[in-house]
This record gives sequence, structure tokens and C-alpha cells, in this order.
Amino acid sequence: MTATLLVDIGLLATQDAELGEIRDAALVLDGDRVAWIGRAREAPAADELIGVGGKTVIPGFVDSHAHLVFAGDRAEEFEARMRGLPYAAGGIRVTVAATRAAPDFILRRNVERLSAELLAAGVTTFECKSGYGLDVPTEQRSVRVAGEFTPEVTFLGAHVVPPDTDRDEYVALVAGAMLDACAPHSRWVDVFCERGAFDGDEARTVLRAGQAKGLGARVHANQLGEGPGVQLAVELGAASADHCTHLTRRDVDALAGSSTVATLLPLAEFSTRAPAYPDARRLLDAGATVALATDCNPGSAYSTSMPLAIALAVREMRMTPAEAVRAATVGGARALRRDDIGVLAPGKRADFVVLDSPSYIHLAYRPGVPLIAEVWRDGSRVVPA
Ligand SMILES: [Zn+2]
Repeated sequence: MTATLLVDIGLLATQDAELGEIRDAALVLDGDRVAWIGRAREAPAADELIGVGGKTVIPGFVDSHAHLVFAGDRAEEFEARMRGLPYAAGGIRVTVAATRAAPDFILRRNVERLSAELLAAGVTTFECKSGYGLDVPTEQRSVRVAGEFTPEVTFLGAHVVPPDTDRDEYVALVAGAMLDACAPHSRWVDVFCERGAFDGDEARTVLRAGQAKGLGARVHANQLGEGPGVQLAVELGAASADHCTHLTRRDVDALAGSSTVATLLPLAEFSTRAPAYPDARRLLDAGATVALATDCNPGSAYSTSMPLAIALAVREMRMTPAEAVRAATVGGARALRRDDIGVLAPGKRADFVVLDSPSYIHLAYRPGVPLIAEVWRDGSRVVPA
């Protein structure tokens, strides 16, 4: 294996508790892993030397919540919403019709396009959900296609009850034949636990059935109002409760006292012009682990920009830039129960981003400005290719 030495790193924010932030840093890569991290003047010899021109290096972003397997476009619905129509859980049905009608290669091309966008935005690991098929064949096609792009595949048959379908029969289908078809291609099971989607008992039925098949649980919880989602996620030992926009004191305490990560998705609040963002400050002060993710989906947040999510988290959710970057890296890794990513330290995956700025603070300080100069994954530079 050829060791590569990256030098002239102005600031290296490792997200590792012991290594912390290092100025005038160097990084040695060996194959797909980090071999050494420290001050440039103490760096060991290597086969190849690359200078990064005094820029900032942070771990690659880990996007633990994305819906990329779909067909169609909902720009007109977005425009209508911006004219004043409220966001409700029902718009999903437009995408379901287009997704069912789309052959595999159309679905594959969509995931390919959006995963390339994520990579260019500095995301080196992403999760990808099904949930726009809502029938056995299309859900199975969706998780199979997702699995061609990421190991973090989530079965979300319980996204919404399809039109003209009996609720109880649909829940039984998701927890039965649909799960049987999708579990072999999935790592996770997720439920949209919300008024207009699935209630607490229905969500519990689906999540328990998924767990019995060996899948880890994640929950869309408390996005549009208070509800049972967060408590259910903690009760079932879910890796993550996602959205967490409307939390009671009890919900915050439950998250703080558990290993369930609170995954916040500010691009959804931004894109739906929601009245309030999640209160990240309250969660962090209580001791909860917080992740930031894109929620990239055609209805409520059609963006792959983790840098914009970071800027919103700082501007609207009272996170510090350091907390927001941490949530977008190691927070996302925790939400996927991964300890090989999200942190730069010896032995971890060599997944990182070179920012064209003297500090990661610029991700929030310079919103909308393309600061991602390079993206490295598994020890190789992939952006620019
Ligand atoms: Zn979602």
C-alpha cells in the first residue's frame, strides 16, 4: 500500500475527542484508512506528498436521512406552497404514482444523480430510504436500487397509507409480505409516525416486525406536531428519531437519557416555510446527541446541500458552527451506529472534505457559497474527479 502525506492543512477539525482541532496539520493516508494525524513538522515520511494550500480539512459529512429513490418532480406543488398552500403529509402520493410507473433504470438514474450531488456537497456516506412505492414490487425495487449506491438502506414502506387502501390491511402488509421482500436488501426500518401518516401503535407494529427481522429502527418523529414518535423511538432503542421539531420536556429528557440520536432536518423547515425550526439548543443543553441531515426528498426538502443545513442550524437553531459541523459528521455517524466514519483519527476511514476557507466557521458565515474544494473518500480524491 502506498502511503500518502497531506501537508499544509491550515486547520484540521478531526471531530475526535482527543485529537480535537490541529493547526498547521498533516494527515497520512494508507489505503482507505487514516494512518497518522498530527502537526506538520512531526509528520512521518510517505511515498507521496500532497499540499492542500493552507485550507481547512474536516471529516466527510454523513447524511443519515435521505429519500433518493423516486421519479417525477413536484416543483409546481412547491410553487403553490410558496403562494400560501400548507404542507401536509398527502403530497407524497404524486411521487408514488410516478415511482410505480418508472422502470428500474429511471430510479437508478435518479439516485445516481442525487448521490453525485451529495458527494459534491461533501457527503461521503449517505442513508437512502424507500417509501415511494408503497406496494410490494416497487418497495422491493426501491431498496434494491438504493443498495447499489449505499450500504445504509432503509425500508420505509410505512411512509403513508396509499389511497383507497384499508389502514389495518396496509399496516399488516408492510409488517408482513412487504417487509419479507425488502428486509434482505435493507439495514434499517423506518416509519413516518405523524398525524396523517401512522399512529404510535401502527408504527410500533411495523418497527417491531422489522427488528424481529434483524433491521435497526429509525423513526420520522414529531415533525408537524407533538406526538408519540420520539417516545416510541426511545422505547424501541431506535438509532435515530428524525425531525424532532415539536418536542415536549418529556421528549427532550427521553432523548437525552437514551442512545437514540435526535436527527434535525432544517432544510425541511426551510423548504416548507415551517413556522418553527427544531430547538437544537435545548436538545444539546439537555445532553442529547444531535445529528444534522439533508432529508433530501422531492416534496418537503429537495436539497442535497449539507453546507446549507449547517448554515441554517447556526442561523435558525442556535447551534455554534462547531456543534453544527459535529452534528453533520460524527452526529450522522452515530445516527447510523457507525464508528468508522464521521471522525478523522488513525484507523478511521479516510473520508474527508477540503474547504476553501481558513475555518469551518465559513460554512455558516458564507451561506450559499461553494466552499467544498475537494472531497476524498476511502483514501482517494473523488471531487474533483
Ligand atoms: Zn424523511
